[in-house]
Amino acid sequence: MNSIDRYAVIGSNIGHSRSPQIHAMFAKATRQAMEYGLLDVPPPAFSTVVRNFFRDGGRGLNVTVPHKAAAHRLADTLTPRANRAGAVNTLAAVDGKLHGDNTDGAGLVRDLTVNLGCRLEGARVLLLGAGGAARGIISPLLEAGVSALVINNRHPARARQLAKEFSDLGPVTAAPATTAAIRGRTAVSDDAGYELIINATSASLHGELPQIPNHAVGTQTFAYDLAYGERDTVFVHWARGAGAARAVMGLGMLVEQAAESFFIWRGVRPDTAHVLEALGARTPPPPLSSPG
Ligand code: NDP
Repeated sequence: MNSIDRYAVIGSNIGHSRSPQIHAMFAKATRQAMEYGLLDVPPPAFSTVVRNFFRDGGRGLNVTVPHKAAAHRLADTLTPRANRAGAVNTLAAVDGKLHGDNTDGAGLVRDLTVNLGCRLEGARVLLLGAGGAARGIISPLLEAGVSALVINNRHPARARQLAKEFSDLGPVTAAPATTAAIRGRTAVSDDAGYELIINATSASLHGELPQIPNHAVGTQTFAYDLAYGERDTVFVHWARGAGAARAVMGLGMLVEQAAESFFIWRGVRPDTAHVLEALGARTPPPPLSSPG
């Protein structure tokens, strides 16, 4: 029997995942005796692989695309935030039961506010996308006190559905269905645009730019792409060209949501700064001017 606590990330086509590297750094820094692997499984095999992993003594799993909704269905118990999101990215064995949580939103908010100095309170936010990632971040953004959260999605009905689902938590609306896409429009002004635009679509993974309403970008706009890669995503490239004050990719969110999962499993909160630096995520940013 393996005496080291076992963890892993489970997803489909995730050979590129940075999670094993991130958790190995966390474990080393906090002196936790654990191992963290990678389970690349297609959707039909998901529940069997998860059940076998925990039956054989596994302690926790990070769940990624496309299994987050399936993990939500599989969990015996859910935190309120995972329940709200309808998606689980962290599974833990607790008293023989499968406990599900969602740390994506907390990871994004921490990256934005702590690492990047972005003030969310009072900010007007445009959220692009209405998939699993969007579901996980709406509630934490509203809790952080944004003054408006507008959802724009390729299929507008999904944006409307999300806005309806979360409207009891704060000022969230769907963008009008008629918003046109812009491709590289550069005219910006000081008083126009959103303070924050979050790309939670998977368009970047296909090298595409999602639909973005006209006049979304101003000189104070902070653009954040949940996707990340070796080079700037199309969205980050576009945002810079459109005049945004700053544009970054989501590697910081990945590290912060991982730290939150690590804390759930081990009861120890790892320092993320050295991991961000080791991954080349970014150097410490200059302070960003507050919205408005
Ligand atoms: P989903 O498949 O659940 O949702 C995809 C979303 O993207 C939908 O809203 C879909 O629109 C939209 N979309 C897909 N292709 C296009 C396109 N070509 N143009 C415009 N819109 C498009 O994916 P997730 O929500 O799970 O993931 C979204 C992104 O977030 C991915 O890039 C993922 O890697 C990233 N992510 C990053 C994390 C991090 O830690 N940095 C954590 C979680 C996710 P429609 O509804 O119209 O089909």
